[in-house]
Amino acid sequence: MENQSWVPCSAKPANAMLRLPLALRVEPYFDESLSSVLMRLVDANGLRSIGALLRDASCVAFGPLVSAEIAELSRVCRIGQSTMRSMCPIEVGGRARGAAFSYAVGHHVIEARHLLVRDRERICPLCLLDGGMMLAAHRLTWMTACPVHAVQLLDVCPQCEKPIMVTRPNMVQCRCGLDFSRISPITCTLEEADNVRYLYQCWCSPETTGSGLSEGLAAAEKLVDCRRAAGAKNGSGTVDRRAVPLNQMRYALGFI
Ligand SMILES: [Zn+2]
Ligand SMILES: [Zn+2]
Repeated sequence: MENQSWVPCSAKPANAMLRLPLALRVEPYFDESLSSVLMRLVDANGLRSIGALLRDASCVAFGPLVSAEIAELSRVCRIGQSTMRSMCPIEVGGRARGAAFSYAVGHHVIEARHLLVRDRERICPLCLLDGGMMLAAHRLTWMTACPVHAVQLLDVCPQCEKPIMVTRPNMVQCRCGLDFSRISPITCTLEEADNVRYLYQCWCSPETTGSGLSEGLAAAEKLVDCRRAAGAKNGSGTVDRRAVPLNQMRYALGFI
């Protein structure tokens, strides 16, 4: 018993002490999504997967992270803490405080139903082909098309028909082997392109304008309400549609 007195009583978990920062850095692009940056880091450093990188940084899973996880991820990835924080959705409010459950992301605070935060992904074949990246704005629930390329986003692999996940082998490759950057993109309708460009404008607007994004999101929900006014019974625009497939979202918005 006496011999154990040298053990430091405030020792941190072993992995927090031992984890070395990654050898190679990547610089996040403008509006690049967190999963996109992490996938590029995994690729550059020859790691096994995003899961392995997150474990290295003591993060429980891909999704909203707490401050300590963001700090550790920032250290391991060698990305500045404020840049890392701006890419990570952080939970704010919640039932316990009687406030609406929201995410702070970048300079926005938006209600939870407007943002995909877990491991289901949306990709634009042209963003992958041109820039080898995914945009953070693609994770807005109402973003059914790429605002930069005006083509439909994909949330399901056209070959194996499974959802596209953060856990796929790499950014452009599905588990079934399909190369997403070789998919022929589907041009979206003018109406859909206008909608996503407006949303993107709100998403990218400087923080000083405040409510810009919430107005854009409310406009998308109003589109759904207008479509349903004719006789639909359940579900207004404000229903949480994060789990709804993109094709059904396009239908709800009147784009197909
Ligand atoms: Zn694109
Ligand atoms: Zn597939």
